Amino acid sequence: MRRSKTRVLAKVRPELLKLAAYVPIEPVDVLGLRAGMKPEEIIKLDGNENPYGCSLAVPRALASYPYFCIYPDPWQREVREALATYTGASSDNIVAGSGSDELIDLVLRLFLKDGETVINCSPTFGMYPFNTELCGGVVLDIPRKEDFSLDLELIKSSIDRKTKLIFLASPNNPTGNLVPESQIRELLEKDIVVVVDEAYHEFCGVTVAPLVMEYENLIVLRTFSKWAGLAGLRAGYGIMDADVARLLLKIKPPYNLNAAAQVGILVTMENRKDLGLAVERINRERERLFGLLGSLPFLRPFPSVANFILCQLTRGNAKEVNAKLQERGIFLRYFDMPRLQNYLRITVGTPDQDDKVIKALKEIMREAGH
Ligand SMILES: *Cc1c(COP(=O)(O)O)cnc(C)c1O
Repeated sequence: MRRSKTRVLAKVRPELLKLAAYVPIEPVDVLGLRAGMKPEEIIKLDGNENPYGCSLAVPRALASYPYFCIYPDPWQREVREALATYTGASSDNIVAGSGSDELIDLVLRLFLKDGETVINCSPTFGMYPFNTELCGGVVLDIPRKEDFSLDLELIKSSIDRKTKLIFLASPNNPTGNLVPESQIRELLEKDIVVVVDEAYHEFCGVTVAPLVMEYENLIVLRTFSKWAGLAGLRAGYGIMDADVARLLLKIKPPYNLNAAAQVGILVTMENRKDLGLAVERINRERERLFGLLGSLPFLRPFPSVANFILCQLTRGNAKEVNAKLQERGIFLRYFDMPRLQNYLRITVGTPDQDDKVIKALKEIMREAGH
């Protein structure tokens, strides 16, 4: 006979029983099942992935890689050297992870003591508050202003002895705007760790990575998931003070960057010209899509320097529109948060995909009488 489950659940850290789950996106086969369509018919614009995929050299290199039976390099030597060449930092300042998600977790584990505060500037990437709570921290949310810029004065006046760290995504997801370097410098002057998440760096070319030489409390995070088309391989990295990097290398799981991800990073670095062209194509398409979205009378798109555009529905109900799009095999990101009522985020797709989204939006809104 099965004993009551409450005995094992009573042993779980109680704060995790009530922790709100991070809402992840689903793969195309699952989305296809949901829409009753084949995976290749799905228009997936919900994850800021690269519609042109990764460099073709990556699958070729993986197919002939001979060492999958051997543990990967725990010190990520080749990868850190290649990333040093790419970023201009020294390999001593670089740590790679299983996506930048893992680095967010590792950084919090390194710095955060129970009950210490992490500043979050909503609306922003959901992993920051989720991981903070998972690591026993307290989230202090300082919402962004109406135009999605930081409320810098309130942030600065909220910093106290309990404040350990602040997360700043730049460009921010889902709003698409940058944090000015002058504001980042102001926060770096405070006695806290400043994590600048540059997941979309390659789309805008803006970075604060050189400031790592000036500020030991700065950590810059990057990823291969968005511009490089490697979301499925899980490859990210951080640029930071050499002592902090050494400590992260010490506490991370020894083989956190798997062999396939290491190959993916190295081959991407060798072939980054092709990817640069894809990034330019996506940037041009973002401007075209922005114009199309702006011409719809029921939508207000927000300017973006990343590969997605946040849109406010000025008429109709975004949740219903999103559900109707899903019936047609079109998947966007819908937000159900206080600051983002009636918003959708659209990843920049291929021109053909984007045209289909615009057409579907027009039809759905016409059918709903807007
Ligand atoms: C997508 C995204 C990430 C996650 O990157 P992974 O390397 O895939 O874990 C991190 N930060 C922001 C702001 C993102 O949008």
